[in-house]
Amino acid sequence: MERLQRIVIVGGGTAGWMTAAALSRVLGPGYDVALVESEQIGTVGVGEATVPHIKAFNQLLRIDEADFVRSTQGSFKLGIEFVDWLDLGERYIHGFGSEIGHPLGLLPFHQYWLKARRAGRAGPLGDYTLNTLAAQRGRFMVSATDVPVGSPLRNIAYAYHFDAGLYARYLRGYAEQRGVRRHEGLIDHVAQHSESGFVTSVRLQDGTVLEGDLFVDCSGFRGLLIEQTLQTGYHDFTHWLPCDRALAVPTANVGPPAPFTRSTARAAGWQWRIPLQHRTGNGYVYSSAHVSDDEAAATLLANLEGEALGDPRPLRFTTGRRKQCWNRNVVAIGLSSGFLEPLESTSIHLIQSGISKLLELLPRDGFNPVLAERYNAQLAFEFDRIRDFIVLHYKATRRDDTSFWRQCRTMEVPAELQGVIDLFRDSGRFFRNASEMFDTISWVQVMIGQGIVPRGWHPLVDNVPDEEVHRFIDSIGRTLSACVDAMPPHQAFIDRHCKAT
Ligand code: FAD
Repeated sequence: MERLQRIVIVGGGTAGWMTAAALSRVLGPGYDVALVESEQIGTVGVGEATVPHIKAFNQLLRIDEADFVRSTQGSFKLGIEFVDWLDLGERYIHGFGSEIGHPLGLLPFHQYWLKARRAGRAGPLGDYTLNTLAAQRGRFMVSATDVPVGSPLRNIAYAYHFDAGLYARYLRGYAEQRGVRRHEGLIDHVAQHSESGFVTSVRLQDGTVLEGDLFVDCSGFRGLLIEQTLQTGYHDFTHWLPCDRALAVPTANVGPPAPFTRSTARAAGWQWRIPLQHRTGNGYVYSSAHVSDDEAAATLLANLEGEALGDPRPLRFTTGRRKQCWNRNVVAIGLSSGFLEPLESTSIHLIQSGISKLLELLPRDGFNPVLAERYNAQLAFEFDRIRDFIVLHYKATRRDDTSFWRQCRTMEVPAELQGVIDLFRDSGRFFRNASEMFDTISWVQVMIGQGIVPRGWHPLVDNVPDEEVHRFIDSIGRTLSACVDAMPPHQAFIDRHCKAT
C-alpha cells in the first residue's frame, strides 16, 4: 500500500455514524470515507444514556450543545440511581464528578468521611456529592464560569440522555456535509486477499463494489467483517455478567424528566428508566437462565410509570469482547467489538474510545502489526476494567431472594476486582489506573452504596483533630447544599436553553 486513503465503514448505527463524523472532522481532504448501511437490517438504537466523556467527543466535532440536545430530544444526566441493588428497599446514587480537594492533607475526602461517619458525625456519602444532591432535588445547570474560582458550580460533571436514532441522524447530516459518501444496501459478499486475508472490498446486493484500504466494522452484534469473515473469536463474560436479553419499551412522560438514569434491580436482572424530552425509555435487562421471556415482559409492563407506547422490543446479546478488536485491516467499533451490558451506560463511551485510539494509531502506508497490538491491548484493558466495575454491582449485593441474586452474590469474580474490593474493605483505599474510565469517586460511591464498608481508614486521618475533620465535613455539606439551591429545576433549564420543538 502506498498510502492509506480509502476507508470503508460498514454499518450506520451509533457506532458507524460516530466514526464517520469523527473521521470527516479530523482526516481532511486526503482521505476517502464511505459508509454502508442497510435499512433491511436496521440498528439496535437503544443507547440512550451516556457518561460525561461524550462531551469531549461533541467538542471535537465542534457541535453546539444546545442544538445537539434539542435535536436529539435530550435531557441531562448527573448520575445513576440504583434501587434495590444492595437489598430490597435500599437505594443510592452514583453521581458523576471528581474527588473533593484535600484541604486537610493528601487524602481523598472519603477517608475523612469514613472516620466522621463512624463517629456518627456525618450523613450518607451522597450528602457530600454535588451531583447526588442535585439529582435528588431534580436540579440541573451546566458549569457556570461567572461564579468564583473554586466553587463546585464551575465544574459540574454531567452527561446526556438522548434518542440514539436521532443522534445517528444528526451525525449523519454532519458527516455527509463533510464529504462522507453513504451507500444504502445489504452487503452480500466480502472479498479478501488470497494470502494475507486482508479485506479488499465489500459488495452490495445491487452489485456496487466498495474497495478500501481500511475497513471499520460497525455492523453490530453480527460482526460482519471481524467475526463472520475473519473469525477473530470472542471472550465470553457470561459467567460474570449473566444477563443476556433485554426488552425495551418507551412510555409517555408522567412528569418533568429527572436529571439521572434509574436502575432498579428486579428478580433476574434490572430495569432502566431514561427520561427524554418527548418520552421515557424503559427496559428490563435479564438472564434467560433465571426468567422466561414472558415473565420478564410481564415484570417490565407491571413496573412502568407511564403509558407504554408500543410492545416491548426484544434484544439478545452475549456479554464479552472480541479477542482482537483490530485484526488485519479491520477495526471493530461498537457492538461488533463487544458488549458489557448497559448498566453503567458505557457502550457509547467504548465507541468513542475506539475511534480516538484508531485516530492515534492510524496507519500511514501499511499495517505494521505493532499498531494493532497496541490498539488491542488498550481496548482490552478498557473493556476489562469497565467489566470489573459493572461486575462489582452484581457481586456486592446482600440480596438472597432469588436464584439470580444468590448466583451473583456467590460467584467468583476476576482476581483484580477481588483485590480492589479487599483493599477497600480494609481501609477505604483505592488505586486508579490513569487510563481507566471511571474515577476514584465512582468506585468509592458504588462500593459504599453496595455495602462494602471499610473496616478502618488511612492512619494519617488521625493526624487531624476530630473537631477539625467534623468542621470540614459540615462545611462541605453546607457548601454543596447552597450550590444546589442556586441551580434551577432540570425542566426549567431545558425549557430555557434547549427545548425540542
Ligand atoms: P447497530 O446499531 O446494530 O448498527 C449496525 C449497523 O450495521 C446497522 O446500520 C446495520 O444496517 C448495519 N449492517 C449490519 N449488517 C449489514 C450488512 N450485511 N450490510 C449492510 N449493513 C449492515 N449504550 C450506551 O452507551 N448507553 C445505553 O444506555 C445503552 N443501552 C443499551 C441497551 C441495550 C439493551 C443494548 C442491547 C444496548 C445498549 N447500548 C447502550 C449499546 C448501544 O445501543 C450500542 O453500543 C450502539 O447503539 C451502537 O450500536 P452499533 O452501531 O455498534 O450497532
